[in-house]
Amino acid sequence: MDHLRLDRIELRELRLPLVAPLETSGWREEEKRCIIVEMRSGNQTGFGECAVSAGPWYGPETITSAWHVMQEYFVPEVLGKVISSPSHLVDSLSLLRGNNMAKAGFEMAFYDLAAKIEDVSLSKFLGGTKSEIESGVSVGIQNNTQQLLRVVTDYLQQGYRRIKIKIKPGKDVDQVSALRQHFPDLMLMADANGAYKSSEAQALFRLDEYGLMMIEQPFAWDDLVEHANLQRALKTPICLDESVSSLNDLKTALSLKSCRVLNLKPARVGGLTVSKEIHDLCQTHHMPLWCGGLLETGIGRAHNIAIASLPGFVLPNDISASNRYFREDIVSPEFRLNKNGTMSVPKGPGIGVNVIHEKLLEYTVRTEQFSS
Ligand code: MG
Repeated sequence: MDHLRLDRIELRELRLPLVAPLETSGWREEEKRCIIVEMRSGNQTGFGECAVSAGPWYGPETITSAWHVMQEYFVPEVLGKVISSPSHLVDSLSLLRGNNMAKAGFEMAFYDLAAKIEDVSLSKFLGGTKSEIESGVSVGIQNNTQQLLRVVTDYLQQGYRRIKIKIKPGKDVDQVSALRQHFPDLMLMADANGAYKSSEAQALFRLDEYGLMMIEQPFAWDDLVEHANLQRALKTPICLDESVSSLNDLKTALSLKSCRVLNLKPARVGGLTVSKEIHDLCQTHHMPLWCGGLLETGIGRAHNIAIASLPGFVLPNDISASNRYFREDIVSPEFRLNKNGTMSVPKGPGIGVNVIHEKLLEYTVRTEQFSS
């Protein structure tokens, strides 16, 4: 790509209502909050999404911490500078440690901008090979099994091919067993978001009998050793999510054999450049990969779809249609589920969907612009 100068950066905090709250083992998301990063060079604009939660539940960052590091540390590193490539941008921020979600939001805006200037889709820009990606849906913890069956039945009728349910100690075996009875051949998996202690592994051994595609992140996010011990004892593949927030974490997990599948979220690992490195290392090690989600708006969703169009993403993704989360999305066209349970990869330049400015304004709760 040609060198480009970053003339203007805008941060914008959004609050959007969710169609239904999402409950995991450890927290409950009542509304969608995020920071949209807008970068301008000449007359082109790129958009990224920092998919951080209001509080440090999924990861250690918060809306407030992400805003702070972007404003105080990231903007001064790049504003008014000539940047030659996304990896150049990543290098500019590399002396600033951690804060992956803030970095991802920043870097994604640059990727969108760079792909638009090159006049190619973000998928092509990243080396994507697919025109559609397989779509699954993630179902939060429900009040009771009947309600869980109703919700899952509804998603299957909408066309989703793979169902993931959130579990926690005491809300696991009965739920999986009931779903298996009703849907013997369903592509089904369970995600604990790190809720189990190794002393509570008995329930995980019982889950091993239900033909799950994988059990996601049963143990604490920083415990690769217990995951390796469990994986040795289970037939069901363990998938890591929270435990892998960098390429080096993946190297450790591969070395210890802590998992057989990886859920890659660009937001968690600091953006698309690291995501590509992780993708390539997974391919080398024949580790199946899929793309997870963090309730992204259409902007973050578009970035996730672009990375999921790479060839190593061989399992259905947690990338659902806009209406799974929002009454209305902030992009046009909205993301829809195809009849065959896939979603189409946008072909237009950059993220390939239009950001609806009036919708952005409607959901904005604070904004700050920086010009060079
Ligand atoms: Mg997860």
